Amino acid sequence: MTAANTPHQEHHVHELQVIDPATEELVATVPAATPDDVDAAVTRAARAGRTWAALAPGDRARLLRRFAETVDGQLEELARLEVREAGHPIGNARWEAGNVRDLLDYAAGGVERLTGEQIPVAGGLNVTFREPLGVVAVIAPWNFPMPIAAWGTAPALAAGNAVLLKPAESTPLTALRLAELALDAGLPEGLFQVLPGEGPVAGKALVDHPGTAKVVFTGSTAVGKQVMAACADRVKRVTLELGGKSPNIVFADADVERAAAAAPGSFLDNTGQDCCARSRILVQREVYDRFMELLEPAVLAFRTGDPSDPDTAMGPLISAAQRDRVRSYVGEDAPAAIRGGIPDGKGFWYPATVLEGAAGGGRAAVEEIFGPVAVVLPFEDEADAVRLANATDYGLSGSVWTRDVARALRVSRAVAAGNLSVNSHSSVRYSTPFGGYKQSGLGRELGPGALAAFTETKNVFISTDDA
Ligand code: NAD
Repeated sequence: MTAANTPHQEHHVHELQVIDPATEELVATVPAATPDDVDAAVTRAARAGRTWAALAPGDRARLLRRFAETVDGQLEELARLEVREAGHPIGNARWEAGNVRDLLDYAAGGVERLTGEQIPVAGGLNVTFREPLGVVAVIAPWNFPMPIAAWGTAPALAAGNAVLLKPAESTPLTALRLAELALDAGLPEGLFQVLPGEGPVAGKALVDHPGTAKVVFTGSTAVGKQVMAACADRVKRVTLELGGKSPNIVFADADVERAAAAAPGSFLDNTGQDCCARSRILVQREVYDRFMELLEPAVLAFRTGDPSDPDTAMGPLISAAQRDRVRSYVGEDAPAAIRGGIPDGKGFWYPATVLEGAAGGGRAAVEEIFGPVAVVLPFEDEADAVRLANATDYGLSGSVWTRDVARALRVSRAVAAGNLSVNSHSSVRYSTPFGGYKQSGLGRELGPGALAAFTETKNVFISTDDA
């Protein structure tokens, strides 16, 4: 059992155990940061951040590009580390490491374009400056350790800040390696530090520390609310990327074959441990039976097994505790309509599962399961689809399958979520904004505004009066 899953955390641990979820073997032990470690790291980061912010923008951009190249040179090593600590299939893990490189490149391109404005006023010149915040704390979850760490880190560094990254208890290894690669690339000592540790200890210390200017938190809605409350005390800047229960809406006028073929990946990728998982499949009644007939072979063909095998599509869950949690949703209020297979032996495996007929009311249909489980519900018409899609406290993503362009736009506008896709399940690109409505989050990451989110805008008026 990893420290993340220890039910009672009265005793602080001195080290974190990293367990391979596919084999249950101990991969590594890593010292856990204490509040004193956090305090010392904030002091170092503040010093390094001042030097960094004073560099010529072109020099900062060059160093970030070099960091991207250094990551690119170690993609395979980083990917293999992610397979070990998180059980991600190697193909996914390679993409994730490549995403870190791309995020650094994209952010580097923004450094010299982070311009202010000149605004017309009477009696002088008015200009705005985008000033770095100082030390930014990035708190990451275990489901996508590398990309989510980089979503916050790359634009924060590009905007002239220092970054302290706290990875999740169970997945500190790729984050620690990235910090080494940053030094190899020539980033100043102390500018980007990784502090593995327990959430309520190291994470809380980062949130509470007067020296951190902003917290970028990605994780559960429950902890996100605590982080937001703690930030309120100092009016600390905060971005929250929280849970989801995203709908996949299939209209009768859609290409139902394509919709059914694409559905498994939308809730089974990363074993469903994806904040954007389309775990509520809403299907118009006329095509419901046809969709289910097509969905079954597609789900059963989603290959589950050894994550280091390039043909594997789905690996294990992160931990035994996560498996217990997922299990608690199945069979309780909905019978399983489709159930895939899992390998024998050790590992935190859970089969691909499709539930039917919870009639919108059961726990499985409204709560985030964070496992390879989807609930399918029928709907009558467009208004019914929108009503069902919005019947949740979450609002992160969603998909709309239809051949009618006007309907695609109407429904995309009517669903209260931050990231919609039409005839596709794509949610996240480094070049487009990402974030949640309602209790799925606060603020946006990625996209053209990513760097600005790590700055304060300062307005300066210079009088041209000669009196
Ligand atoms: P979690 O909330 O348990 O932990 C997230 C991080 O917060 C970890 O690093 C943890 O150590 C830390 N933490 C825990 N308690 C803390 C505290 N009191 N103060 C400060 N930090 C603390 O979440 P998890 O189980 O690691 O991740 C899964 C959740 O993340 C899911 O709900 C998922 O939907 C969400 N998620 C959201 C997005 C998004 O972009 N919206 C992306 C990925 C995951």
